[in-house]
Amino acid sequence: MVRQSQIYRAITFKDKARIAAIDTTDIVNQLIKMHDLSPLATAVLGRAITLGAYISSNLKNSNHKFNLIINGGGPVGQICVAGNGNLEIKGYLENPKVSLPFKDDKLDVGGAVGKNGYISIIQDLGLKELYTGSAKLVSGEIAIDYATYLLQSNGVKNAVILGVLVDKNGCQASGGLIIELMPGADENHIFVLEDIISLMSNFSSLLKEKTIEEIMDFYFGHFETTVLSNDKIKLKCDCNNKIPNILRGLGEYSVRKMLQEDKEIEVKCDYCSKKYTFNEDLINKLFS
Ligand SMILES: [Zn+2]
Repeated sequence: MVRQSQIYRAITFKDKARIAAIDTTDIVNQLIKMHDLSPLATAVLGRAITLGAYISSNLKNSNHKFNLIINGGGPVGQICVAGNGNLEIKGYLENPKVSLPFKDDKLDVGGAVGKNGYISIIQDLGLKELYTGSAKLVSGEIAIDYATYLLQSNGVKNAVILGVLVDKNGCQASGGLIIELMPGADENHIFVLEDIISLMSNFSSLLKEKTIEEIMDFYFGHFETTVLSNDKIKLKCDCNNKIPNILRGLGEYSVRKMLQEDKEIEVKCDYCSKKYTFNEDLINKLFS
């Protein structure tokens, strides 16, 4: 089953909690091909890209942007996800070939990411200053790390579930569920939500069998739930526009010097692995 990646948002218990259910399976399969990801790297980047989808859906304007950076000092290296308020996201990690022994019969995401570092989110909300927040990593498993970030930087009680099911045929399911409690939520709401969440401990297996609409309907349909939106998420890189500017930013002198040494300048975009080659003609145009 090929499913369009999407994010489904709702409020439940009248208006005591916001829920987002996210399916990034299709995007993760594209990322596997784009970056030639190992299964472990797929599990790591899949979790991070699902967070990216959530962060982009929280941006108020289509031209607002974010960067999510996770660096825990583990063998997968730095993980970068970026996107905009148009639900266009992209991502890569430093070591796409990372491989570790299984831990408790599961891909060792926490071991790959490490926990000696931070999860940081930088947002460009069209203001003079960028909005930056970060939290120390707790486990490197990403979900609990983001939950900690939300609590520390926004003071919001929340639950974050992220899961990626991957085998030799690719990603079978990738997505997550994020709940943020709203003012007025009490112990009762927390109790019921914790109960529901405990039934979803293997979210990726659930997502393999059901669509996010079905999951939301099954678990939350009977709790005064209102659907807010159901939007497609796209994997999209904007390097077409950026690479020429990066070269211009280096300055004509340095670029011409590079050209003298190599006849051609090759630039590769980390986010989409696309390669650009600039010969003398193109460089002349760039600086004309
Ligand atoms: Zn690119």
